[in-house]
Amino acid sequence: MTGSSRSIGRGIACRLATDGALVGVHYSSNSQAAAEVVDTIEHAGGRAFAFGAELGVDGDAERFWTEFDEQRAKYSGPDETGLDIIVNNVGVALRDHFEEATSEDFDKMFAVNVRAPFFIIQQGLDRLRPGARVINISSIVTRLALTDVIVYGTTKGALDTFTLILAKALGSRGITVNSVAPGFIDTDSNAEWLRVDKQAWSDTAAQSAFGRVGEPEDVADVVAFLATDEARWITGQVIDVSGGTRL
Ligand code: NDP
Repeated sequence: MTGSSRSIGRGIACRLATDGALVGVHYSSNSQAAAEVVDTIEHAGGRAFAFGAELGVDGDAERFWTEFDEQRAKYSGPDETGLDIIVNNVGVALRDHFEEATSEDFDKMFAVNVRAPFFIIQQGLDRLRPGARVINISSIVTRLALTDVIVYGTTKGALDTFTLILAKALGSRGITVNSVAPGFIDTDSNAEWLRVDKQAWSDTAAQSAFGRVGEPEDVADVVAFLATDEARWITGQVIDVSGGTRL
């Protein structure tokens, strides 16, 4: 799964490993963080290996699968080639109002948030076993109209549309495709404005029906459910995992 060395991705990786999956812990440059996740999973009796590939750059999907295949072969031998679950978690959110948005930021966010998952799945299709699960991590920004993240919100809208169409395309193989849309979660990517500012923290918490900021585990548990056989009849959906934000 992409971006599983920190934050939400780390939570999902640990949860899927607890459920028995062999997890490919993907990172961009911080191999140390990925190694720590692998250690944590193995300490708890699970199975995982790390692999690195920057997304959002030319040739990213090819490199992603090359690294994945190489590291998995080292872990479980060359005969193990199938895949049961792909989680597209990596996403970048640069703050942009409409008037200030640049084509560089636009291209970067679309390359990481939309192009990378699109081609990772396209190039991973042969690996997906019948009944596999594709889970794309979206965001509640598609329904909140936050004007300071207009490009980011647009990328997540595109990702949800990709989810919808891909669900139809892969249905005949019994593969489900869903988006999970978190609300505000306490992660590294929010650290600068959320963790350091008590007012921002309490304002954000107050937006949830439960009066708290989300944790990576709140998202991981829902991803884990979608990965089970019990979720076989859910496909093409966007599942809101925001603790009832702004209901
Ligand atoms: P983080 O930025 O905290 O996650 C970092 C992880 O992604 C690390 O594993 C990091 O690897 C990897 N990563 C980041 N950029 C790249 C890249 N260009 N190529 C490859 N790997 C990369 O993200 P969050 O946990 O906050 O968010 C995860 C997903 O959830 C995103 O899609 C985000 O849009 C979505 N989301 C997040 C919300 C939140 O409140 N945090 C709310 C709603 C949605 P390394 O350590 O090597 O850099």
